Amino acid sequence: MMVLSSTARAQARALEARSAGAAIGLVPTMGALHEGHLSLVRAARRDTQFVVVSLFVNPTQFGPGEDLDRYPHDLEQDRRKLEAEGVDLLYAPPVEEVYPSGYQTYVELEELGRRLDGASRPGHFRGVATVVAKLFNIVQPHRAYFGQKDAAQVAVIRRLVTDLNFPVEIVVCPIVREADGVAMSSRNAYLSADQRRAATVLYRSLEATRSRYSSGERSGPALVEVLRQSLASEPLARIDYCAVVTPDTLLPLTMIRSRALVAVAAWFGQTRLIDNTLLGD
Ligand code: AMP
Repeated sequence: MMVLSSTARAQARALEARSAGAAIGLVPTMGALHEGHLSLVRAARRDTQFVVVSLFVNPTQFGPGEDLDRYPHDLEQDRRKLEAEGVDLLYAPPVEEVYPSGYQTYVELEELGRRLDGASRPGHFRGVATVVAKLFNIVQPHRAYFGQKDAAQVAVIRRLVTDLNFPVEIVVCPIVREADGVAMSSRNAYLSADQRRAATVLYRSLEATRSRYSSGERSGPALVEVLRQSLASEPLARIDYCAVVTPDTLLPLTMIRSRALVAVAAWFGQTRLIDNTLLGD
């Protein structure tokens, strides 16, 4: 596995592989890699001949007072994990490689970027869309892999690709969970033992909502109420949002006719966790 911090060299290497006829797969990450990330890497390894993983804690997607400065990192351990998965290129640039002095171009999704996590974290999706657009231009992948764990991000990336005509196929991989249902996240490392136990309420509340849907409930507000009440049963959880929305527009659904995204965000102390599930077909 080649490890590069230089954007110019990473771009040259990926273009070289592309010219040699390889299908290029890109997995963007912020590091502190767990099985969720590795599931994306494995999907890329299965589908494509040249797998690029980017590892970059993107400052522009963090708001003031968020966890940018304490975001977990261990490049050496991440490098070993990616090497074991047969990754071809690890692109791990410093901030100045991505945002050199004088940088001033950003990508903003006017409406979608302000929904769900975009409402709770102003500017978050502007940072995400900007860095993903840059990664697409640097690596020029045929396919890029994202986790369903970040459902609003998936909607944003799909819209970005359509709006800016990126010739990239977006592959979305299922949420990887711990044995007790908690979605794997680099941020789980912040939780105390009590908060970690309390975090199981997220998955339980999604399952309670799914079960009400399976019994025939199709009203969005009624399902949001199930979600809210289930979350409220955990005193250590402070709800950020509970939503039943259309997966691509992220707009609230009054009545579920086909697919719905049930999404939740909650605080456990200083740590904000998200989770979701898809209903319908
Ligand atoms: P991050 O490093 O948190 O930016 O995540 C990088 C990619 O891994 C994103 O596309 C995430 O959606 C995905 N991801 C993170 N956690 C999980 C998980 N538990 N299951 C599946 N994908 C995940």
